[in-house]
Amino acid sequence: MKGIFSPKHKLRNPQSELFGGEIVESFEIPQRAEHVLQEFNKRNIGEVIEPIDFGVEPLLKIHDSKYLDFLESCHRDWELAGNTGDASALSWSSNKMDNSSTPNDINAKLGYYCLSADTFICKGTWEAAKESANVALTGANLIINEEYSAFSMCRPPGHHAPRDRFGGYCFINNAAVAAQYMIDNGSSKIAILDVDFHHCNGTQSIFYDRSDIMVCSLHGNPDEAFPYFSGFKNETGEGPGKGYNFNYPMPPNTDYFEWQKALLSALELINKFAPNKLIVSLGSDTFKNDPISFFKLESEDFFDYGSKISNLKIPTLFVMEGGYAIDDIGINMINVIEGFET
Ligand SMILES: [Zn+2]
Repeated sequence: MKGIFSPKHKLRNPQSELFGGEIVESFEIPQRAEHVLQEFNKRNIGEVIEPIDFGVEPLLKIHDSKYLDFLESCHRDWELAGNTGDASALSWSSNKMDNSSTPNDINAKLGYYCLSADTFICKGTWEAAKESANVALTGANLIINEEYSAFSMCRPPGHHAPRDRFGGYCFINNAAVAAQYMIDNGSSKIAILDVDFHHCNGTQSIFYDRSDIMVCSLHGNPDEAFPYFSGFKNETGEGPGKGYNFNYPMPPNTDYFEWQKALLSALELINKFAPNKLIVSLGSDTFKNDPISFFKLESEDFFDYGSKISNLKIPTLFVMEGGYAIDDIGINMINVIEGFET
C-alpha cells in the first residue's frame, strides 16, 4: 500500500489549547504524523509519495468560500489587530444578537466560524490544512487510477469540520473532500466508515441529505463525549439521505469485544450499500491509553479490525484523523494498515 505524506503538516504547530479549564500543551502536535510515517517506513508497508497540489476547487465543492477565505486570512488579520498569541475565539453570537451577514472584525469572525474553543489558529494553519486536503486528494486520485488501497497521512485532521466551521483540531474535512472528488471522477457510490473515537459531526452534516455517500460512525456516546451535539443513534439522514447515515454511540470503557460488534454491523450495512470505494476515517483515539478518550482497545485489536475491513473487498482509502497517545499512535495506526493488507 502506498502512503501519502507531506512535511508541510509541521506548519500547523499550535503552542497550546484550552482543556479542563487550563491552557495546556496541544494534544494535536506534529509528532503525531511523524510517528505514523516512521512506523509506516519501519514495517516497509510501501512507497511514500508527496501530494499533488489540487488547488482550491475541490475544497469549494465541500466548504463555503467565505469560510475558506477566513481560514486563509485569519492569522494575518489577528496579528494586524495587534495580537501576539495564536488566534482563538472568545465570543459567540446569541440568537438575539444574530446578524445574517458575515462579520468583518477578526474576533467576530473567529466566533462566527468556530465550533469549539479547544482549537487555536496559529500561523501556518491554512497552509497545513490545505496540504492535508491535498494528501487526502492524492490518495483518492491513486484509488481512482486503479490502486486498490492507499493511506493518506493527513494532519491536521478533518472529520469535525462541517461546511463552514473549524474546531476539534479540524479545519478542512479531508475525508469529505476526497469522497466528493471520487464522485466527481466516476464513482456513483462512496461509503465513509469513521472509526475515530469521536463522532464525525462534520462529515455527517456535509452528506446528511445525500444517498450517494453513506456515512457510518463508531464513537463515544455524545451524551458524554465531544462533539456532544451530534452522533446519536436516531440521526439517520434527511430527505434523499434518509437511511444513509448510521451512528454507533458507545459508553465509557467499551472494549474491543463490544466495539467490534458495532464494526461488524457497520460493515454489513456498507456491504449491502455496495459502494464503488470505501474511505476509512482512521483515528487511533479508541486506544486504552488515549489521554482524551474513553474506550479500551488494545494495540492488537487495531490489527484485527484492519483485517475485518479488508473482508469487504472494496478499494479503500485510509484518511488519518485523531489519536493522541503519542508513543503508540504509529503502532496502532499501522496495525490497522497491516491488518488490512494480510
Ligand atoms: Zn478523535
